[in-house]
Amino acid sequence: MKKPTRFLPYGRQAVDEEDIAAVVEVLRGDWLTTGPVVEAFEIAFAEKVGARYAAVCSSGTAALHLASLAVGMGKGDAAIVPTMTFLATANGVRYVDAEVAFADVDSNTGLMGAAHVQAALNSPLGPGIKAVIPVHLNGQTAPMAEISALARQRGLKVIEDACHALGTTYGDEGGDSVSVGSCRHSDITVFSFHPVKTVAMGEGGMITTNDAEIIERVRRFRNHGMVRDPERLSDMKEAFAPDGKFEPWYYDMPEPGFNYRASDINCALGLSQLRKLDRFVTRRRELVGLYDKALEGMAPIVRPPARVEGCDPGWHLYAPRIDFSAAGTGRAAVMRSLQAKGIGTQVHYRPVHRQSYYEKRYGAASLPGAEKYYTHCLSLPLFSAMEDSDVGRVVAALAEVLEVDR
Ligand SMILES: *Cc1c(COP(=O)(O)O)cnc(C)c1O
Repeated sequence: MKKPTRFLPYGRQAVDEEDIAAVVEVLRGDWLTTGPVVEAFEIAFAEKVGARYAAVCSSGTAALHLASLAVGMGKGDAAIVPTMTFLATANGVRYVDAEVAFADVDSNTGLMGAAHVQAALNSPLGPGIKAVIPVHLNGQTAPMAEISALARQRGLKVIEDACHALGTTYGDEGGDSVSVGSCRHSDITVFSFHPVKTVAMGEGGMITTNDAEIIERVRRFRNHGMVRDPERLSDMKEAFAPDGKFEPWYYDMPEPGFNYRASDINCALGLSQLRKLDRFVTRRRELVGLYDKALEGMAPIVRPPARVEGCDPGWHLYAPRIDFSAAGTGRAAVMRSLQAKGIGTQVHYRPVHRQSYYEKRYGAASLPGAEKYYTHCLSLPLFSAMEDSDVGRVVAALAEVLEVDR
């Protein structure tokens, strides 16, 4: 009998006994939610990516919402979002009642460039645009120096959606190596710790910034909008007793916020996982190298992901470009056949501007770079616990399904 083969999802977490012990320790302690591990995680994360401040929250989506709140976006404003991303990048803008100006992307990398940002600025939503939200698709970076130069010219805030790019570095003008999350060219960077991402928290997200005012707003909106700091209160009369002492029960809410806190339980997992980040990233890079090599013989039907020069990605996804029609098949058939062989794949992403909600709101738009990228992309399994031989298995199965010689 044939040995049953292990199913390979397109992504999954790598949780070990050390992670489990870290979570159990919190469960035996005094705090389940906001306790000492929340701050320990934030400090370790800020240090790791090279930012002055970090604030953890309940998801990457919450982090995107908090980012929109923190830069003061609201009704009448708009933000530029590349259409090749997950829904949450655009939805975070809608949560504050601002509009989304969808931008096109490069048809090979799926990344928004400065020219795409410029085109969005010239669109009907242009005059209201207050922020731009580059997405580091698959772990490779959008051209941050160029985008931030353009943003500065136009007085726009820059929010990086780095949910794919924890552990990514890129070369800057002058030869510096920039860590994603350090906010060298942005006001805010946002991360997710969903289990398919490089570091898992269950559910969790992070915001990094170098701006003290932004981090104050993020922390306030994360926790119902409450202010307890006597120095920040508006009504000083009620906050202080006649003897001049601060009333210990007092707090104020200048604007309503949310409960987007992350618990100590989740942060214990995040902190333990963060200690292994370098190992995770190294392993993902090794697997990507193996994939690239294994796919060499399958060009031009299958081509490895197009590379961004000077970027050293902490790869989240491995999405080669596949010419399904030249192979005489369709993507759905390929996905189903691979699934039957125990190999999970996924399409990242169906362009967000084509979602019925957005199409109803803004009408049909022509974003040809994204359409082309979308037609060709397919994410193959990539996670740190994969073995070298898994790559061979995936590529052999892909060649068989596409009927391409290697
Ligand atoms: C995962 C992801 C998000 C949302 O993160 P959650 O933690 O799942 O809410 C946002 N943007 C991108 C690009 C993502 O990949």
